[in-house]
Amino acid sequence: MDLDPLLEDAARRGAHHLAALDGRRVTPDAAAVAALDSALDVDLPEDGAEPAEVLAWIDAIGSPATVASSGGRYFGFVTGGTLPAALATNWLASAWDQNAFTRTMSPTAVGFERTALRWIVSALGFEPGCEGAIVTGATMANASALAAARHSVLARAGWDVERDGLFGAPEVQVVVGAEVHATVRKALGLLGFGRERVVVVPADDQGRMRADALPVLRAPAIVCAQAGNVNSGAFDPFGPIADACRAAGAWLHVDGAFGLWARASSRLAPLATGVERADSWALDAHKWLNTPYDAGLVIVRDGNALSNAMSFRAPYLAQRDREPGDLTPDSSRRARGPEVVAALRSLGRRGLEELLDRCCDHARRFADGLGQAGLPILNDVVLNQVVVGFESDAEVAALIEALEADGTCWCGPTQWHGQAGLRISVSSWQTTADDVARSCDAIVRAVREVRAR
Ligand SMILES: *Cc1c(COP(=O)(O)O)cnc(C)c1O
Repeated sequence: MDLDPLLEDAARRGAHHLAALDGRRVTPDAAAVAALDSALDVDLPEDGAEPAEVLAWIDAIGSPATVASSGGRYFGFVTGGTLPAALATNWLASAWDQNAFTRTMSPTAVGFERTALRWIVSALGFEPGCEGAIVTGATMANASALAAARHSVLARAGWDVERDGLFGAPEVQVVVGAEVHATVRKALGLLGFGRERVVVVPADDQGRMRADALPVLRAPAIVCAQAGNVNSGAFDPFGPIADACRAAGAWLHVDGAFGLWARASSRLAPLATGVERADSWALDAHKWLNTPYDAGLVIVRDGNALSNAMSFRAPYLAQRDREPGDLTPDSSRRARGPEVVAALRSLGRRGLEELLDRCCDHARRFADGLGQAGLPILNDVVLNQVVVGFESDAEVAALIEALEADGTCWCGPTQWHGQAGLRISVSSWQTTADDVARSCDAIVRAVREVRAR
């Protein structure tokens, strides 16, 4: 079969979608979503269809119902777009269809993954001996890192947790900050530590763990700190936390899904001073590095701890010394390395730094513009995150509805210290100063409209 026409059609449709992003509304209109839902509410047909026909059908019903989250005016959650080199590489690597489990299965997938990791460890200024792997995102990176932590602290207490589980194991003291990300709690639950059976350290007004309020640490212990609060962008005080962990033999894990990238900018790096002293880190590529979904990284100082937690052997798998599959929760997995390498190769160190700084400048512009319009900014804008204060959750919901009706931009709701807020995260390579100005105007318009009702 000649695949050229089909693949060229797919590329043309994808390019058309991207070219239209800037001119379209950010959220899809209700009619497009309703049309999608009804088109998909059909049973599996008896007979197959031509690939070109399938593609045309998926494009026709799917594209209009997409959210323009890879465009320049989507500020919800922490959402990056996709750098052109990363997108094109993703398409190419999809054609390769490699399994990144072992080197035997794909030398190319494994080679790119190793280089992606090495380049990122270097960009973050970590010790070159750090190891890790590409996973689906920071949730699985947190889970993987905490599995390594669980292995390590229990092994030191004479317990083999992979073999014997947690029943009867020495109790592990698990410490989190009051502003811990929900996915860290989820990871702790998956690992048998419990989402709630943790010591919670109070946070300060920016959401930073208060190092002076750390409990007395007693090994086996795991402390979960954070680089980049999901609302405020604030960083925990890693120096004093690392001191306490080192003194007690506790494992220090840092959830740095987006904030850890600050280390790759000389201007932002001081925010994360001391973070390099941790034992493990979770980082996303699909957020601030602007690779396609899904890609995140688990990084550990001691690769043996992660390998002991993850690896298994089966004679038929022909595994060699240490495979990516020895460092990940999944076995068969897509090759995410090429697109991460492509993003980094197209940016270079300078371009990465410039992307990070630019997003933070835009966040500052949002805070200034909205502040001048009389809206209260609830956080110290130190990174790419801005929280705007409102009267109530109902007011924020009405505001978001008005923003969606307008279509210029999208931001999500939040709660910050008990107050309702609109959350703005600038994480896309696409966002320009003009996007920020237009979005500020749209937000101010929507606020007036809601308040006039
Ligand atoms: C986004 C985020 C996560 C979860 O990452 P996923 O990529 O969605 O799995 C964890 N922690 C923080 C701080 C985040 O911002």
